[in-house]
Amino acid sequence: MKKSLKLAICLTLIFSWHLCSFYNVQAADSKLLWLVNPSHPLDSHYAPQQFTHISGYPIRPEAGEAFLKMQADMRAAGIHGLRLQSAYRPYQYQKALFDLKVKELAGKGHDNDTARTMASKSVAIPGTSEHQTGLAIDVSINGKLSEDFGSTEAGVWLKNNSDRYGFIVRYPKEKTNITQIVYEPWHLRYVGIPHAMYMRENNLCFEEYIAYVKEVGAFLYWIDEENYYKITFSTTPPEDATFSSIGQSNEYIITEQKKCQR
Ligand code: ZN
Repeated sequence: MKKSLKLAICLTLIFSWHLCSFYNVQAADSKLLWLVNPSHPLDSHYAPQQFTHISGYPIRPEAGEAFLKMQADMRAAGIHGLRLQSAYRPYQYQKALFDLKVKELAGKGHDNDTARTMASKSVAIPGTSEHQTGLAIDVSINGKLSEDFGSTEAGVWLKNNSDRYGFIVRYPKEKTNITQIVYEPWHLRYVGIPHAMYMRENNLCFEEYIAYVKEVGAFLYWIDEENYYKITFSTTPPEDATFSSIGQSNEYIITEQKKCQR
């Protein structure tokens, strides 16, 4: 490599480093990227520490704030009436829902094991519902939670735009073999902006994204001309960066936001 070229690269690196600044740095474990599914259940005692209420539904403040902003922008885009149908649900509530479904199926003549297996296809087994995190919401326009919602104006808008507010459509139609959950266009999960945007842009469901971050270890993600995120997988909790544990073992994803001029 020519000396002048080497020098130019060095100077670019030095200058770009100095023109970047860290911000949005905090120490608490946000648990925003906590993966919950049948293979990664939540402890029956787990409940979020903080709540806010929206339309009477308890929800983690970050997710609630993002929902209100998204709802307002949807309205501004001419789509009215998006409302919450469900947000935080405690373990015991989910257990009652599941037991009710099992009872209904058993009443139709299925034995208990079969009824439980069948019930788990449409109602999450207690501990495996994301609603227990306080970060998942069910939304609708007309009060119904059905597959048709995905092809309505609101459903299409959410699929294309909810990532900008930090939400993912958690159970996409084409990923049911990975999520093991039927297509649910009404169920959104808050994970934070860079992660939601990266997943949508790269057509990854949550399970695939977590596997990806663990595999690559770290990556940079530019969200516009000036801002990028450094996303890192770690097995030790960092002291001074925004991070989230992703399960009940020692696995963390660190999210650092940097603002640069380039
Ligand atoms: Zn849901």
